[in-house]
Amino acid sequence: MSENFLIAIAWPYSNAEIHVGNITGSHLPGDIVARYHRLKGNNVLMVSGTDSHGTPVVIAADKEGKPVEEVYKKYHNSFLEVFKGYGITYDMFTTTHSENHYKVSQAMFLALQKNGFLFKQFSKQWYSPSSDKFLPDRYVEGTCYICGYENARSDQCDNCGNVLEPEKLINPRAKTGDGALELHDTEHFYLDLSKLETDVKKFLEERAPHMRDTVIGESLRKIESEGLQPRSITRDLDWGVPIPIEGWTEAGKRIYVWFEAVIGYLSAPIEWSQVSGQKDAWREWWTNPKAKQFHFIGKDNIFFHTSQWPAELMGAGKEFMEIFAGEAVPLTLPYDVPANQFMNLEGEKISGSRNWAVWGLDALTRYDPDALRYYLTVNMPEAKDSDWDWAEFVARNNNELVATWGNLANRVLAFCYKNWEGHVPDVDIKMLRKPDLDLLAAIESGFTSVGALLEAVKLRAALGEAMKLATAVNVYLDVNAPWTAIKTDKDGASKTIYTALKAIDSLKVLFAPFLPFTSAKLHEFFGYETLLFGEQYTETAKDSLGEHTVLRYRAPQYPAGKGIDGLQWKPSELKPGVKLNQPAPLFKKLEENVIEEERARLGK
Ligand SMILES: [Zn+2]
Repeated sequence: MSENFLIAIAWPYSNAEIHVGNITGSHLPGDIVARYHRLKGNNVLMVSGTDSHGTPVVIAADKEGKPVEEVYKKYHNSFLEVFKGYGITYDMFTTTHSENHYKVSQAMFLALQKNGFLFKQFSKQWYSPSSDKFLPDRYVEGTCYICGYENARSDQCDNCGNVLEPEKLINPRAKTGDGALELHDTEHFYLDLSKLETDVKKFLEERAPHMRDTVIGESLRKIESEGLQPRSITRDLDWGVPIPIEGWTEAGKRIYVWFEAVIGYLSAPIEWSQVSGQKDAWREWWTNPKAKQFHFIGKDNIFFHTSQWPAELMGAGKEFMEIFAGEAVPLTLPYDVPANQFMNLEGEKISGSRNWAVWGLDALTRYDPDALRYYLTVNMPEAKDSDWDWAEFVARNNNELVATWGNLANRVLAFCYKNWEGHVPDVDIKMLRKPDLDLLAAIESGFTSVGALLEAVKLRAALGEAMKLATAVNVYLDVNAPWTAIKTDKDGASKTIYTALKAIDSLKVLFAPFLPFTSAKLHEFFGYETLLFGEQYTETAKDSLGEHTVLRYRAPQYPAGKGIDGLQWKPSELKPGVKLNQPAPLFKKLEENVIEEERARLGK
């Protein structure tokens, strides 16, 4: 029975390029799990998009003297290149700046209002008389009233780390130079999260058994100590989703980005349905109580995804669907939030502004995507912070990826191709010996053991288990030495090579979620006409807001009667005697001088 998995990944914000910490934090783990479930024949929908609204992108656009659309699109389009390059197979990577996202966000707002979870309240906000507008938090800087730091943002001090009440800031000034500032009253909508605290606690306790300790621990602790507090969900800014209440948008107010960007987990599947010509298909993941939703995010977003987002969904209740689709049914709640910790770089925090970073696109100009995916998986910060170290990158590439797996596949295929005239040895499989059968049984068990670890989102351990099986094949070859046996016992060498090939053909599938590019190559060397994975492509969507480019994924297409039965996560059924294609090495060994060259790039 196939199951439905929504793989929902954190929405990158449109004011910075993506670095390796972002990739290993959320996009890559989400992709590995998505690819695994596709190979298992499950129904996967993997979504994310660019978080395009809010003040940082507006401030960046002001500084550059460019329209905000242009600035958000510059980052958005670069994100698409990163995901294509690393093979992050989004079924839909879109943007919050779309008519569809507006409609979905507004329906969520109205559902929460209908259910009594919104209230209006006045607060003080900095206002610029010279430009006649309110200046939201990040527009205003001044002296921190807690530690005296002179360049604190009005909502947060980067020196002492405290969240600030904007109206208490000393010597406030506008980042954009809008003259002297005054405090004026402004009215906003608030989401009363406190009313949903009991429901959120119950939601978390139900999921505790399968959630990571780091995630469930932090979430429950925070609810105990701080509880859920009302938060404003509108603000004085003219870049964002319009408020669906008459007069509010005209007054220069929009829905607050914290409230609407997360609704992308719902709006992106809806957009995917629309462009796929399957209007209601998204409901298979969103109103189907059996669907499992996984949220891949970094540790800075844990509480938001375990508490505030479920609270929004529970508060909207059946009324969201009633308003949006005319049928009152509840939405599915998240199943798991396998948040990762952070990846540092050479012992220090990654910092974009100091260029202490390995940038996603730049790294692809020098290294193959599977080499990067490998290191980012073995070093994934699943339970605690990890560190990208260039010496370790080179060592693990050379000693593990190349030496254990790449050389195994290459030397067996090349030896076979040369000595059996481009065909798998034509052995009688009933005559295989005990060590042959033992090895194949060990490899076959990997489909259960590696699969179970992938299902539990223990990706480092899953990849380690696959690598352990590759080592077992190397040991088997050392013992049976077909390279010398071929001269004296061609029949024995045939059995050894057939067994090793079959093991490699299985390992190819076990490695495929992690190393999709090289597994696809290997699949081709084995002569298969089917494909392990489909292809990524971009297309342009048009709506009343203009155009935006989306990244999509197309599953393999086959002529009628030719394809696969849907399940590819299974041991090889390699037939003796079939034709192979000319093999080639899968990975590149890296020179030691790479380490110093890369270190010299940092912080410049
Ligand atoms: Zn401070």
